[in-house]
Parts: sequence; C-alpha cells; structure tokens
Amino acid sequence: MAEILKHYINGTWVASHGTTLLEVDNPATTEVLAKVPLGDRKDVEAAVGAAQEAFRDWRETPPLDRAQYFFKLKTLLEEHFEDLSRMVTVEHGKTLHEARGDVRRGIQNVEVAAGIPTLLMGETCEDVSRGVDSTSMRRALGVFAAITPFNFPAMVPLWFWPFAVACGNTYVVKPSEQVPLTQQLLFQLTERVGFPKGVLNLVHGAKEVVDALCDHPDVKGVSFVGSTPVAEHIYRRCAAAGKRVQALGGAKNSMIVMDDAVKDKTVANILDSSMGCAGQRCLAASVVLCVGDHAYDWFSAGFVEQARKVKTGNGLDENVNLGPVISRAAKDRILTDIGTALEQGATMLLDGRNTADLGPGYFLRPTVLATQDRENILITKELFGPVVALLKVSSLQEGIDLINACPFANTTSIFTSSGRAARQFQYEVHPSMIGVNIGVPAPMSFFSFGGTRKSLYGDLKAHGKESIAFFTDTKVSIIRWF
Ligand code: NAD
Repeated sequence: MAEILKHYINGTWVASHGTTLLEVDNPATTEVLAKVPLGDRKDVEAAVGAAQEAFRDWRETPPLDRAQYFFKLKTLLEEHFEDLSRMVTVEHGKTLHEARGDVRRGIQNVEVAAGIPTLLMGETCEDVSRGVDSTSMRRALGVFAAITPFNFPAMVPLWFWPFAVACGNTYVVKPSEQVPLTQQLLFQLTERVGFPKGVLNLVHGAKEVVDALCDHPDVKGVSFVGSTPVAEHIYRRCAAAGKRVQALGGAKNSMIVMDDAVKDKTVANILDSSMGCAGQRCLAASVVLCVGDHAYDWFSAGFVEQARKVKTGNGLDENVNLGPVISRAAKDRILTDIGTALEQGATMLLDGRNTADLGPGYFLRPTVLATQDRENILITKELFGPVVALLKVSSLQEGIDLINACPFANTTSIFTSSGRAARQFQYEVHPSMIGVNIGVPAPMSFFSFGGTRKSLYGDLKAHGKESIAFFTDTKVSIIRWF
C-alpha cells in the first residue's frame, strides 16, 4: 500500500482535511511511490495560524541565533546529500547527476542565508540635518508562503524559505503535488534541526491550498514559481488581498550562435542546456538562432551528431544522460506539439519520438527540428521537453530583435569569441539572466534569480539581496536629542 503523505504543521505530522488523493509515481518506471493529499482551506488555516503564533518569538530571536539553525541544517543536508538526490531522481526522473545539481544549488541558499546577520544590516547617516541622524533597519513582517513547481523538487523551495525564515519571518511551503517526496524528506531534516514549532510548515495540495494562501489576511507575502498563467493568477489574487508577491513564470529561451564561436564547446553547452533535465528547466535552450549560413551548417551538423549519442533511460543508471519527462500527460502534450510543428512546416532533423524499447516510463529522446517560420509553435510556445528548434538569421541584430519580440524574457545566451558582439547582446536583450558562452546561466544564490515580462510578475527576484528586500520592511528612524 502506498504511503499517504501528511502535512507538517506546528511541529507535527498531521493528516490532511482534504479527501482527494493523487498518486505520485516514478516517471522512469510508472511505479506508484506514494499518495499525496490535496489539502483544503482548513489545512491552510491551521498552518498559517501556527506560523502566526510562532512569529513574535522567532522575530525576537537574534539573527546570530537564527543563523545557527541554518548551520545545523547545512550539516544534515550534506549528510543526506545522496538520499535527497536519489529521491529527486526517483520522483522527478532527472538523472542522478542532475539531481545532485538540484540539491547542491538548493544547499547553497542555506549557506547564504546563514550569513543573515550581515545581510540584514541597515544603513546610517550622520547629520541628515544639523544635529539630526538617521538610521534604517530591516524588520521581519510575519508569515510568508511559497508555491513551487515540479521541475526542481529540492532547489526551488530552498530559493525562498531559508532567506525568509533567517530574516525572522515564519513560513508555509506548498510543494508541487507532482514531486512532494523530496520536500517531505527535507522537512524531516528541518525537524531534526529543531526549528521552534510553527516556524516552518508544509501543506500539500493544489489550487484550493494556493488560493487560500493568496487570500489569507495573515500571509504577508507569496513567492511563486511555475507556469505563466498560474503566475499571473497568483499575482492578481495576492494583489487583490494587498500582499507582496514575486511570481516567476514560464520561459521560451533562445541562444545565439555566431560563426566565430568555439564550435565543440558551443555544441556541448547547448546540448546540455536543451536536453538536460529532459528540457524541463526554466533556463533550457529551446530555440537556437544561428547567425549566417556557415554557422548554421556547422552547428546543425555537430548538434544532431552529438544529440544522437545521448543515452536515454532511468536516471538512476549513472550511464544515462537523459531521463523521462514528468508524466504521461506531459509526454502526450509534447508529442502533440511536435506533431503541430511538423504540420506547420517544420523539418525533422532528429526524431526522438520512438521510445518503445525503453519500457513504460515517460521517455522522449532528443528531438531536433528546423524552421524559418517565426509563427511556428516551436518558436512561440514553451514546450518543456527535450525538443529544440534551429533557425537561421542573417545578423546578430536580427537575432536580438527576434529574442526581444518574445513575450517571455527569462534567459538567453550568446556563443561567440567577439567581445563586441557579446557586449551588444548583453546591452540590448530583454531577458534578464544572460549567458556569454554559458548554456544555463543560472545566477548563484548570492545573486538574484528571475526574468522579466511574462517570466516575472512582481519586481523583486528570488534569493540574494533582492529576497532580503522582499522578506523585510525597511524602517527609517530620524533622531534628534535636545
Ligand atoms: P504549474 O504552474 O503547473 O504549477 C506550479 C505550482 O502552481 C504548483 O505548486 C501547482 O500546484 C500550482 N498550480 C497549478 N495550477 C494552479 C492553478 N490553476 N491555480 C493555483 N495554483 C496552481 O508549473 P509546473 O508545471 O509545476 O512547472 C513548470 C513551469 O514552471 C514551466 O512553465 C517553467 O518555465 C516554470 N518555471 C519557471 C522558473 C523561473 O525561474 N521563472 C523556474 C522553474 C520553473
């Protein structure tokens, strides 16, 4: 019998009030791993109530003492690094190597958040007027919540709560119902750290829990990562309830290849970017814009040759480079989109659709198509699978204009040996996470992470200094002594 997961509220594992259960399966084997309850408003009420109750004491705990919990957590995360990585692979499908990256990048947020005494420091200025001094301080606000996607089961929740909680806030995490097991394991570790009851809470669920968090008057702010329609919904709903919101949405990422790029490294980087995590990264290369005939010829030939060598299978096998996509529904959607692209006139360069030899898992092999039609679904829609489109442009400027015509603006990279071209690219492109000869330009946890336009609703991004601003109010005192 598959385990029925529980919420973690006020320091205790509790059964959900919600009666609907979803099966969590291993996408490489389709084996059912657990059942996740879809929580309801009562569960949210209990979690937010516990977090609100815990807030005052936690806020008054000195930052140096709060930091100690994160040092302990870091030690436990390292001890359980392989357990967490295997859990990511089993419930998500990405390869063990990629899962280790997911966990590693998550842990880095804990490391940065442990520096909270410095991160929280305000500013002072003597003599803002004669005999008058001014100081600013950052104060915690109360209860915050995160609503997270399936594609980084370990890392994305850790983008938020370590910073929020280190600042003195209390927290509710609502993980993706498709990958709840990594968070369950993570919360078991936080329980061992001994955070005071109510400081950290976990509620499983879907739309009802999300909407209840957005509406709850005691939730001061919501961090969301997921698809653009849901990001927009959450942004509007949180704004209507008068709270802070940072909602990171979907993406459609293009890479530019100049003829002067270092050929083998360019091919390898874009292959990892587009096929890594089965193309289910918000920073995945989805369209490759080759500047000129010559660049197109060497890139397409080299890329197809290398993509053909990718070994697809169960991510627990260390020799596998490409795991399954998350679900049967995701696979069917991607197959439909490839069909549409072909009907719209795209040319198939490498067809990865036939995976009958790989068993029942939700596998797709690398699929490479070419098109010159900017209205083709390959250019307009986030496919979120191991599928990449090649398109030829006549100049760097044409490539930049094409990138800037896209309503999404998450990431983009240029591959070139020209500093001048790279500078023009960085200066002109709209996406805000930019790579120069880097396939996956993911900002480290001490920088902030997020795009713009339809890839980010809100203004303050995830982790780094911007997250400290998101999770605190800056109060300024102006002081005169007669
Ligand atoms: P999703 O939007 O389907 O789900 C994300 C979260 O929203 C989940 O917790 C889910 O339970 C909840 N949710 C889903 N539908 C909802 C609804 N109608 N109302 C309220 N809540 C709802 O996203 P996903 O499929 O889990 O993740 C993939 C998407 O996330 C892709 O679009 C990807 O680009 C995006 N993503 C973006 C970033 C970024 O940094 N911008 C990072 C990772 C993933």
